[in-house]
Amino acid sequence: MKDFEYIQPETVEAATAALATKENADWATAKARVFGGGQDLLGEMKTGLEEPSALVNVKWIQGLGGVTQADGGNLKFGATTKLRALEGLFSSGAFQVLSEAAKTIGSPQIRTQATLAGNLCQRPRCLYYRRPEAKCLKKGGDECFAYGGYNKFNAILGGGPSYIVHPSDMGPALMALDAQIEISDSKGTTEMALDDFFTLPSDGDVTRENVLRPDQVVISLRTGLDTPSEWRSTYLKFQERDGFDFALSAVALSLRVQNGAITDARIVLGGVAPRPWRCREAEQLLLGSMEAASLAKRGAAAADAALLGAEPLEHNAYKVPLTKGLLQRALRQLTA
Ligand SMILES: Cc1cc2nc3c(=O)[nH]c(=O)nc-3n(C[C@H](O)[C@H](O)[C@H](O)COP(=O)(O)OP(=O)(O)OC[C@H]3O[C@@H](n4cnc5c(N)ncnc54)[C@H](O)[C@@H]3O)c2cc1C
Repeated sequence: MKDFEYIQPETVEAATAALATKENADWATAKARVFGGGQDLLGEMKTGLEEPSALVNVKWIQGLGGVTQADGGNLKFGATTKLRALEGLFSSGAFQVLSEAAKTIGSPQIRTQATLAGNLCQRPRCLYYRRPEAKCLKKGGDECFAYGGYNKFNAILGGGPSYIVHPSDMGPALMALDAQIEISDSKGTTEMALDDFFTLPSDGDVTRENVLRPDQVVISLRTGLDTPSEWRSTYLKFQERDGFDFALSAVALSLRVQNGAITDARIVLGGVAPRPWRCREAEQLLLGSMEAASLAKRGAAAADAALLGAEPLEHNAYKVPLTKGLLQRALRQLTA
């Protein structure tokens, strides 16, 4: 591991000031990195994938962690809120999806260190990306080796030219709650829909998975549901090995139920696309009565619609029926 400067700012302003260098305005030249729990970044530094000249540790900034009330019954989560703190927080209702997603991540030791923002900003787990000697598209090369290679874990939706899947479980869960993300740099603070934060490889910079610049810091996440008390949610994830494993496929589902009928829905898939994958058309098919036979029919139609655009690679066609099954199971659980 190369030597680096360690910076421990006490305020967001000090953190963004430390990041506001000329070279840090662009990922191609940036050498400073924001440091959360280190559960991804340290691994990348150990294998030489990242060689920062400075780490700006935001974990000790007062007020950047924890959960507070937001408008209309929504919640605001500080960027450095630990995943471990989220896992026991909600056992029912609108925010249950967050605890269920958090629980599936890594081990208790990892969740004790890992922060919410770090989970959203973590880098891909594609075997080729993680192999230092493979200069793939994500690392400025000119080929996605997974495309014609070993692609069991790669994307079936939204792929090309890179076929990574986004590794975050908290991304789909937060998107299913219409979350907004707050971001600061030395010039001020902005907020955007989390849906607009994540990018596809075809959106522009194939080496990144979101719009964050290297001189920016994620400050908070805020849920944005209309009347959260009318919503219920769940997260179902399929792992090859239980515990310690990333999603082969995952479904974050939230439903608004009014007078015994589903009046609004969010379906966001994980583990199948280069970003958390919202299924807007499928969501519309879920609206209607809670009567079991009708729901089962609409659930099957929604599952088909969600996977309609799937283009599996040689080794990952299994993700199509797997994801359809997860979505229908999530629907049954939420409407039982
Ligand atoms: C064995 C193992 C199993 C795992 N399993 C899963 C899993 O099943 N599901 C899952 O979702 N994850 C999994 N992970 C990944 C783990 O959850 C993430 O690595 C962790 O959440 C990252 O959070 P962190 O705070 O440690 O981030 P760090 O490692 O500190 O940072 C990760 C990235 O985010 C950036 N960053 C961090 N905080 C901020 C901020 N406030 N603003 C801007 N940028 C920031 C960093 O610069 C870096 O690029 C696993 C990891 C391991 C080691």
